Amino acid sequence: MNCEEASALVNDFIENKIDDDQVLSEYLDHICSCKNCYEELDVMFIVSQGLYGLTTNENVSFDFTGALSKKIEDAKRELKKAEIKKRRLIMIDIGCVLIIIAVIIAFALDFMM
Ligand SMILES: [Zn+2]
Repeated sequence: MNCEEASALVNDFIENKIDDDQVLSEYLDHICSCKNCYEELDVMFIVSQGLYGLTTNENVSFDFTGALSKKIEDAKRELKKAEIKKRRLIMIDIGCVLIIIAVIIAFALDFMM
C-alpha cells in the first residue's frame, strides 16, 4: 500500500469502517512503517476525538497518543484472531474431506470384498 492509498483510509480506520481484513492489515503495516502516514492518522484521530468530546459532552481521555496506540494494537489483535479462526476453519474443512474420503474408501473396500 502506498501513502496515497493509506491516506484515503484514515477516516475509515478511525470510524472502524475497514471491513476487509486484507486491506486493514496492509493499512496497519503501512502506518507502522511510514512516519508521515502515522502522523496524519494521529492528527485526524485527535481531531475526531476532540469533536466527539465536544458533541457528546462525554469525558474523553486526553491521552490521544495512548488512545491511538491502543486502537492500533486492538486492530492488530482482532486481525490475528480472525486469522487464527480462518486457519481453524480450513483445518476443519480438511478434516471433513479426509473423513469423507475415508468413508468412500471403506465403502469401496467393502464393495470389493
Ligand atoms: Zn505513507
